[in-house]
Amino acid sequence: MRRRRHDVVVVGAGPAGLSAAATAASMGRSVLLLDQAPRPGGQIWRHRAGASLPARARHLLDRVRESGAVHAVATVVDAPAPDTLMVDFGGRVDLVHTAAVVLATGAVERLLPFPGWTLPGVTGVGGLQALLKGGLQVRGRRIVLAGTGPLLYPVAASLATAGARVLAVLEQAPFSAVAKFGTRALRDPHRFVDAVRWRATAWRSAWHHDAWVVRAEGGERLEAVTISVGGRERRIACDWLGAAAGLVPRTELARLLGCALEGEAIAVDATQATSIPGIWAAGECTGVKGDAAAVLEGEIAGATAAGDGGGMASRHAVARGQGIAFGRQLADTFALQPALRTRVTPEAMLCRCEDVRVGAIDPAWTARQAKLWTRVGMGVCQGTVCGVACTALYGWEPPQVRPPLAAPPLAAWARWLTDVDSPTES
Ligand SMILES: Cc1cc2nc3c(=O)[nH]c(=O)nc-3n(C[C@H](O)[C@H](O)[C@H](O)COP(=O)(O)OP(=O)(O)OC[C@H]3O[C@@H](n4cnc5c(N)ncnc54)[C@H](O)[C@@H]3O)c2cc1C
Repeated sequence: MRRRRHDVVVVGAGPAGLSAAATAASMGRSVLLLDQAPRPGGQIWRHRAGASLPARARHLLDRVRESGAVHAVATVVDAPAPDTLMVDFGGRVDLVHTAAVVLATGAVERLLPFPGWTLPGVTGVGGLQALLKGGLQVRGRRIVLAGTGPLLYPVAASLATAGARVLAVLEQAPFSAVAKFGTRALRDPHRFVDAVRWRATAWRSAWHHDAWVVRAEGGERLEAVTISVGGRERRIACDWLGAAAGLVPRTELARLLGCALEGEAIAVDATQATSIPGIWAAGECTGVKGDAAAVLEGEIAGATAAGDGGGMASRHAVARGQGIAFGRQLADTFALQPALRTRVTPEAMLCRCEDVRVGAIDPAWTARQAKLWTRVGMGVCQGTVCGVACTALYGWEPPQVRPPLAAPPLAAWARWLTDVDSPTES
């Protein structure tokens, strides 16, 4: 086992983590930036080698490179203490010691069950975007997108640009709420221009509000979906369905470390400090509010973790508040309609890892009782998917988090047990 030491460890190399790492390193701290993805950029700037990125992404990646922060492809699997992380560096598990941790773990999609959602060809909305960025060929493919919030726009545009036939884009929120949100977005010219550009790129698609998928059908894989638009159902033949019910902050590591939550997000103060001394958090894990807020919060978290005493937080207080207000608008506008919960049938799969159907669950149980009696949430994903669904469907508290957060290969554990303990390095 090797022990490493860094002044600041940043978990997550999306907009928030990149910004935190560059800021802390430029203040002279030794910074380790960890992300399980093969390349930095997070969900929004996920890319293959050589792919072109927007100017603001290139700028941030350059800042990280020039700052001297060390980036490693690695997954944090446990946190035995607030100043110690257990990290899987791709087949080698090491302990990393640090005075300051910045959590920038982003968000995951909220996948709510409906009949047929586990068929091959059905993914999340962002999940389909991630597959596309990973090289999925969609030219000529018939695609339906069903979700909620601004993420539908860039995903529909990317699919259309890649040659897919995006037959329908379904937004579950009512038109009146989205129109009100759009009027407010007019005040931010960047957001407005982006939205118009994306919508224009996917101009051939039929865009519907008050609309969602009722069921997905197929044999070996997806063949068609039945959708509900304003209460009227119809069937569309398609090859791919991207369906989700918005984003939810990713908080497993924060919960393992004992950080307090506010709602579904990590609770932070004006300097992005969590309830646990020595741990800061930034970006979508503290609430879903887009990449611009993530970059700003990362800068504040990186600076305070590096010991600036709150100067950066004071300078950015107004902009930070605007980001939080935008997050609230998102939450209000795209609040889930009850029909997304009631469309669930007893036969629908709830926990695909452990093969537990909705009908096996009594909503009067607690999450723990459900886990003990049905094994829901005990599979490979450890409740990352069904835990979020159970919170939305039954109002259960998120299940207790247990290490490891992800299972490193057995060889890595074997090495962990047999390696001679070597001295700390930085
Ligand atoms: C699936 C998906 C796709 C999206 N696609 C887009 C898009 O195309 N366009 C858009 O505008 N917005 C997209 N979004 C929204 C996007 O999340 C935000 O706008 C923005 O990227 C948030 O930045 P962030 O730094 O807070 O988090 P993220 O960009 O999500 O970065 C968090 C990073 O933390 C890493 N991480 C988490 N836990 C660990 C761990 N234990 N160990 C190591 N690494 C860890 C993850 O691998 C991830 O790279 C997407 C969201 C999701 C969930």
